[in-house]
Amino acid sequence: MEFKIATIPGDGIGPDIVREGCRILQTIGKKYGHKFIFTETLAGGVSIDKTGEPLPEATLNVCKASDAVLLGAVGGPKWDHLSGDKRPEKALLGLRGEMKVYANMRPAVMFPQLSAACPLKPEIVKNGLDILIVRELTGGIYFGDRGRSEDGLSAWDTEAYTSEEIARIITIGFDSAMKRTKKLCVIDKANILETSRLWREVTESIKGNYPEVSLSYMYVDNAAMQLVRNPGQFDVIATSNMFGDILSDEASQITGSIGMLASASLGESGPGLYEPIHGSAPDIAGKDIANPLATILTCAMMLRYSLNCEREAAAIEAAVYSVLDAGWRTGDIAGDALSDKIVGTRKMGDLVVEALEALEA
Ligand code: NAD
Repeated sequence: MEFKIATIPGDGIGPDIVREGCRILQTIGKKYGHKFIFTETLAGGVSIDKTGEPLPEATLNVCKASDAVLLGAVGGPKWDHLSGDKRPEKALLGLRGEMKVYANMRPAVMFPQLSAACPLKPEIVKNGLDILIVRELTGGIYFGDRGRSEDGLSAWDTEAYTSEEIARIITIGFDSAMKRTKKLCVIDKANILETSRLWREVTESIKGNYPEVSLSYMYVDNAAMQLVRNPGQFDVIATSNMFGDILSDEASQITGSIGMLASASLGESGPGLYEPIHGSAPDIAGKDIANPLATILTCAMMLRYSLNCEREAAAIEAAVYSVLDAGWRTGDIAGDALSDKIVGTRKMGDLVVEALEALEA
């Protein structure tokens, strides 16, 4: 098969980790007979510097014409003085909105080899951790009406959802649960918010299509507690944009490292947007120490969700697993690893390439 991949390296560590992701896809291409055609394009701070805009029209056109988009990260202190629409982060909201990718899938997986990096007590995570958060991405308070009064002394942001927006994300939640342990928890604030009550109504109207899925509801404040008290109770979580943003960062931390976590953003049809969940990490940019595994695992999600290549996705995951098993670590996941096993970005990419090549096709 031939796949067109738009790449957006972006800022900070973005170019280094996207480079490693592309190498892994090329290795997959060689091994399984696919051709990946990469088109690099601009967004974020680097784009502001070159074009004056965080998300040029040309970038959107390349992305929309591709089979999938691989994004590194955008933003950094150089552009922090800019306001609102002029900031690099505007590119993220713009891309998500324009590509109509309304479902953000964020797995929070704790690799057993990294359990020492988990900040929770060992007995809480003794059975490992594997949660999938399905976050609504193009609605709710991040996209609702916002403003300031004329005197500047009051401000508002609006949480608004239509039943259609809710139904499509809840359906992805149920579909994902069917592929996993058939457990779905919808997280909301239905004791206070009218939008949450609509989320529940819509969920109730859909649940009959999924009689095998065990459905539960939880208030978001309780969910924030439960994620650290007993994370093993969750399998698939479906929730709104802002709650999902906060809970998925919390879930990422209990897995031990932000440098390991992938994400996919999907729409009805059209290309998916794939990015590691971490940011541009300006503190370590240009030092060849960023962990590329989140991006590499993001490429596995791309193969699984957009390119219909499950076997290839599983191969990447197996290669990462074996590299970790052999004790190799980047600095962020080093824990008490032997110093001669601590490697940089490029070397970690080399190790995954070698592990992939060594796997049986
Ligand atoms: P960050 O995720 O960039 O960094 C947080 C911490 O994690 C830092 O100490 C960093 O060194 C470390 N880290 C992150 N990724 C790592 C990796 N792959 N390997 C090793 N260590 C890693 O978050 P931040 O510092 O809050 O934000 C930095 C910039 O990134 C800001 O401009 C922010 O707006 C932007 N940002 C962008 C995205 C995105 O593009 N999707 C997401 C979050 C933040």
